[in-house]
Amino acid sequence: MNNETNVLLQNKIKELIIPASKVAHVQLGNSLEHALLVLIKSRYSAVPVLDSAYKIQGQISKTMILESILGLERIEYEQLDGRFVEEVMDSNIPHMSEDDYFLKALELSINHPYVCIEDANGVFVGILTRRSILALVYQYFRKQ
Ligand code: AMP
Repeated sequence: MNNETNVLLQNKIKELIIPASKVAHVQLGNSLEHALLVLIKSRYSAVPVLDSAYKIQGQISKTMILESILGLERIEYEQLDGRFVEEVMDSNIPHMSEDDYFLKALELSINHPYVCIEDANGVFVGILTRRSILALVYQYFRKQ
């Protein structure tokens, strides 16, 4: 591996993070109706789920919500208000720390469109998207 490749792979991910203040999210206890509104308005297919202490609990997507209200013959929209984010979210999502290296982000981006980043106390600080990872890899190869 040449030196420049090493530099790329050993880069810290800090500069690539989209800060929490710019990330659409929902919280535990929010209704599925609220979550669907956030997803539709933000136009993202999935967003992080946080608790009241701003710690990452999982993610929720439009597909998860729609699947959970699928009846035998129709989508039962009336269920949206009486059901909650924690009933359908995926809790099994990867996390990274701000101090992790680029190589780990690159590996996780194979299977995840974005990865949540937390600080040393487990508090959500933002996300790293596959888009920003690919953009950096593209810049690297263009310079070669
Ligand atoms: P992108 O690579 O920009 O298409 O983003 C990939 C995925 O990351 C999106 O489908 C969303 O699930 C998530 N995402 C990106 N930006 C945001 C944001 N500002 N707020 C919430 N989720 C986001």
